[in-house]
Amino acid sequence: MRTKIVAGNWKMNKNLQETEELLAELSAKLPDTDADVIVAPTFVNLQAAKQALQDSKIQVAAQNMHFAESGAYTGEISADMLLSLGVDVVILGHSERRAYFGEDDALLAKKVKTAIEKGLKIIFCFGEELEDRKSDKHFAVVESQLKNALFDLDASAWSKIVLAYEPVWAIGTGETASPEQAQEMHAFIRKTIAEGFNASIAEDVSILYGGSVKPANAAEIFSKPDVDGGLIGGASLVATDFTDIIKAI
Ligand code: PEP
Repeated sequence: MRTKIVAGNWKMNKNLQETEELLAELSAKLPDTDADVIVAPTFVNLQAAKQALQDSKIQVAAQNMHFAESGAYTGEISADMLLSLGVDVVILGHSERRAYFGEDDALLAKKVKTAIEKGLKIIFCFGEELEDRKSDKHFAVVESQLKNALFDLDASAWSKIVLAYEPVWAIGTGETASPEQAQEMHAFIRKTIAEGFNASIAEDVSILYGGSVKPANAAEIFSKPDVDGGLIGGASLVATDFTDIIKAI
């Protein structure tokens, strides 16, 4: 039985006061669910989020981290710093990190390795761009993103990994992959892992879909057999939308 997960990536949104307000509203409206619920506020508000959620089932994730243990990396955040706040989940490989901050597969492989060594759980994001899909390269792109960042890991590391397939053309655009497109890619991801790595890991790993998930489309996307939940951007910033999406799982 795979874990169902709904995670909200808040990106560079919500100051301290807004973070506390949104978390209070979310906690009050949180539906009963077996799914894991995760929110990822910005770094500077992680401590406040942990504090606000200390009696809640909602988990807190960071949106990124550096691969180094510590040192001269101005502006960066280490795994130990996150763990010292009680934050043990990190999003890695988001398409905005790849596109705007030059994070490539080689760098992400280093981040993944450090996060695993430190005992963090990873939500690993990947997905093709529109040109890749138009030129029918989307399966090849996704396969290489997975292989380059994750296939050198020990099998035991995979219990800490959640995958998030996020087609770049569907992120923040209002354009959602159809439930069939999501299912097709998620099944391909499982097949790639089964053939190239390990069949039982392929079956057990949770694969989230991300890209313009909203209350109106969540239930249909989540109903697909290889979709285990969602990574939600814009709709995670509105308590009623996020809780409606949680209800849909
Ligand atoms: C995301 O950025 O991870 C995301 C899925 O964003 P949105 O839901 O806004 O498309």
